[in-house]
Amino acid sequence: MAANSLPVTPVPALKDNYVWMFPTGPDRQAAVDPGAAAPVLRVLERTGAGLSHILITHHHHDHIGGVAELVRRTGARVVGAAADSDRLPPLASAVADGQILTLGTVTGRVLTVPGHTMGHVAYLVGDALFCGDTLFSAGCGRLFEGSPEQMWTSLTRLRALPDATRVCCAHEYTLTNLEFVGTLWPDDPDLQALFAAAAARADRDVPTLPTLLGQEKRHNPFLRCDDPALAKRLGQAGQSPTMVFAHLRELRNRH
Ligand code: ZN
Ligand code: FE
Repeated sequence: MAANSLPVTPVPALKDNYVWMFPTGPDRQAAVDPGAAAPVLRVLERTGAGLSHILITHHHHDHIGGVAELVRRTGARVVGAAADSDRLPPLASAVADGQILTLGTVTGRVLTVPGHTMGHVAYLVGDALFCGDTLFSAGCGRLFEGSPEQMWTSLTRLRALPDATRVCCAHEYTLTNLEFVGTLWPDDPDLQALFAAAAARADRDVPTLPTLLGQEKRHNPFLRCDDPALAKRLGQAGQSPTMVFAHLRELRNRH
């Protein structure tokens, strides 16, 4: 971890969600996508910190279920997409693509990443990317609202960030995703090593996240839909990246 790395903590919530927390100043924290309030309140109690901000990536209940209670108990400022404000909790800060956020002592930037939902946004805070249900380790979110083309475009936006970006996904799906990727490349020793490492962590109930974007660029097939080798492996040689992506997402849905 680089010296100027943002300290991030994945707080398990609900079935397999993570609420990511990070400091915004002395005795202040922010929480991303609090699907439940209790796990966040426990962290605040243990650390004696207040909650300065809540960042929301999208409107699904497992990402906003704890917002109302947290606002009531802490007075945190809620940040979310202006474009989705009609289905998000009341926003203190309604944001749009490219907007720079000041969160206490740290700065962030908003990236719109439609696909999983139309209003989905990601937040880049220092070297940490809070990408909700858009990018997972070895996977990506389901297309509930957007088209394959929109999701592929969103994923290429995230892929353009530096390799050292730490990807803070909202779900612990790594093992299932790697299992699926392993069906595409059954003999890849790198993938086998990643799977073994993730399985060892899961056994001890240790989060597999954050993952490094550089690693995802190498091993996450959803970030490689413009790689002819992947297209060929999927029997999609010569197809557009969007078609390859749609095909791959379909295979994953059926896995
Ligand atoms: Zn979702
Ligand atoms: Fe989710």
